[in-house]
Amino acid sequence: MKCKNVHSKLIFFLEKELPDSEMKQVQQHLDECSECALFAAEMKNTLQILDSDKVTDENPFFFTRVKARLEKQEEEQPVSRPVLVRILQPVAFSIILLLGIYGGFKLGESPDATVADSQLSEQEMVPFWNELEAEPIETFLME
Ligand SMILES: [Zn+2]
Repeated sequence: MKCKNVHSKLIFFLEKELPDSEMKQVQQHLDECSECALFAAEMKNTLQILDSDKVTDENPFFFTRVKARLEKQEEEQPVSRPVLVRILQPVAFSIILLLGIYGGFKLGESPDATVADSQLSEQEMVPFWNELEAEPIETFLME
């Protein structure tokens, strides 16, 4: 077998896709011809690099592991805090913010307001808070 023939069949030889007889002929030539043997070695390296790239790209393990981790995080995050708390926290914050703004406006409206007045307005808010808390329970009992 000539070197040119070996080169043209080399990739098939390395992929072991040649008939047994040709596999033997190419192997025999590589044993005898150092030039082709070197060429074959280089081509083999290139094929291995290509193979390892392919494995990385299509590695189902990596994707599965990342996906599993993401799903695990999604499951863990809501469980760590009760749903009710997550809903009520921003609502409570808004109410406090609005009361703060309301209180600020009220103080602004009466520049002569004394310390006693502001204390009174705070006391007025306490029944409001109690009412806010009691209402859902009363509604629940009535139903
Ligand atoms: Zn050769």
